[in-house]
Order: sequence, then structure tokens, then C-alpha cells
Amino acid sequence: MAYHESKSATYEHISSPAISPDESIAIHPIRQSAQSNPLTKKEISLLAKRFSGKLLLRQEIEMDELLFSHLVSIHAFRPVPSIITSWKGETCQRCGNQSKALFAAMPCRKCQKRCIYCRKCIEMGRVLACQPLYEWTSPTIHWPSIKDPCSWRGSLTAAQEYASNRLIQALHERGEMLVWAVCGAGKTEMLFPVITEALKQGKRICIATPRADVVRELKPRLLQAFPKVSIQALYGGSEDKTGTAQLIIATTHQLLRFKAAFDVMIIDEIDAFPYNKDASLPFASNRAKKTPSTTIYLTATPRKEHQLLIQKSSFRMCLCLSAITVTRFLFHN
Ligand SMILES: [Zn+2]
Ligand SMILES: [Zn+2]
Repeated sequence: MAYHESKSATYEHISSPAISPDESIAIHPIRQSAQSNPLTKKEISLLAKRFSGKLLLRQEIEMDELLFSHLVSIHAFRPVPSIITSWKGETCQRCGNQSKALFAAMPCRKCQKRCIYCRKCIEMGRVLACQPLYEWTSPTIHWPSIKDPCSWRGSLTAAQEYASNRLIQALHERGEMLVWAVCGAGKTEMLFPVITEALKQGKRICIATPRADVVRELKPRLLQAFPKVSIQALYGGSEDKTGTAQLIIATTHQLLRFKAAFDVMIIDEIDAFPYNKDASLPFASNRAKKTPSTTIYLTATPRKEHQLLIQKSSFRMCLCLSAITVTRFLFHN
């Protein structure tokens, strides 16, 4: 695929969250009405769309304290501990950090004590031990089943078609699959049928990649291929960070804000930096998946560990495609 050859690859730099102007407008009438009247169904569904499948700090939830307290009191938002301490030490519940060196303590204005915080994910906002993370509990969102979502009319080679049929099979079986495909194998197009099938079934999909430039490149291609579908691109510096679309393209760092959000998780370049070096990224991508879900891993250069898994048949299938023709298929069932 062309983006593998990009020489100006830029990697994700985490930045503070921002609520889009649209979203602020959407929440504003809710804020007004909650002070005197119960929330309407429409308002609740707007909130569910905004916060379902997320794991957020209080400061990432843009709403006034009155409404927020109300939503906590009716258990729409559930507080979960942000840092858990056990005999093994601390674990950050947002990024999974357990390294002692990546925790520190500071005098805390909120609890008036010295408070532990996580240094590893601090660029996404400080996780303090005394401040919980919040997850939305109900109601859950039902994503629309989209009839004929794909307008791409190109054709796949016989090999790509065979591979994409296997991906659809994995979707039905809700399993894990590793696709080993060299640069230029036409991975994106090969994914279109499985994305199409998932959208027809009303599933929510995430395509995650370590590289922000790949996210930026994929967005217009997917918008063109799936014009009826809500699609957002999330990366450090992206305009929209609300993450409310049915099809999300995101840098793996952005997955730190999701929990049980996606029916289909496609992770590109699992063997590329920083995904292969930073344990918090596989941690976050696992948490961002629903149970059950389908996971598709893409790699051009599988690590030894993955090659071993392939040999042991731990992954259901592995494909090895060349740029022009299929050089070989390896199937392990
Ligand atoms: Zn952390
Ligand atoms: Zn504190």
C-alpha cells in the first residue's frame, strides 16, 4: 500500500482533548434543561452517543457539574478507580502502566494529600489516584445497519477476493486474524468487503494505526468508499476528537480513551514503532474492543513472536501477498 512507502511518516504525539464546536452546541440545550426538568429521551441518546464506549477523566467530559452529578447519581456515568494499588505496586487503569519509575507523587489540591499520578499517559491529561475515570453505562448505542454502504466499484484480484472472504468468515466467527501482507498488496481494498459486511450488520469499526499520517491518508479514501457512513479520524491535532462515528480511524494512542466500543478492531502495522514498543497500546486496543468482537491484525513484517504464533496455528489464518501476484498462501485452521 502506498502509505507504507511514505518517507515523511509522522508518529502520533498525544495532545489534550478538545470538544468540537458541534458537540458543545449539542450538549448546551441538555445542560439548560437538566437544571429544572428530567432529561428527555433525545437528550439521553445524545449523551449516550457522545460518551458510550469511552473511558474519560472528568475534565474530558465537557458539561456543568450539576448535570454531571445528576448523571453519576442515576449511574449513567460510573466512576472507576484510575490507579489501583496492590502488593505488586500501582497500575494505571487508563494506560496499564505498572512501572514504578513512571509513577510520581505531588501535593494534590483535590484530596489535600500527596497524591500518586501516572507519568506514562500524562500528555493525555494527568491521571491522579484520587480522581476516578468515568465510563458511560447506559443506555448503549445501537449503530445503524447500513444497506449497501460501499460505493467502491473497483475489482479485487482473485487472491484479494479469496482473502477478503476469509476476513468476512472471521467477522462471522468473531475471532482474531493476522494478515501478513507486503507493501503494495492492496490491503485497504481487501478490507472493503469485511467493512461493508460489518456495516450491514450494524457493527462499529475501528481502524487503528501507529501513524498519524496513515490516519490522515485513509480518511478521504474511506469517505469516498463509504459515503453514507459516519467516519472520523482521530489523531494528535485532529479537529474532531469526540470519537462518535460508526467508523473510526485512529492512531493507537487515541484508543486510550475508549472502552468496549468496537465490534471490529483492525490494527495496522502491529510490528511498527511505537505499537510494538509501547505495551500501553496493545493494552488500550484490547480494552477498546467489545466482547465478543473481531480483531484483524495487519503486518508487512511479522516479528519472530508472530511467526511463531503462525507456526503454532494460534492465529486462524495468515496470508502472504506480494505486490503483483500472490506468491503463497499459508492457512492454519
Ligand atoms: Zn497511565
Ligand atoms: Zn489527590
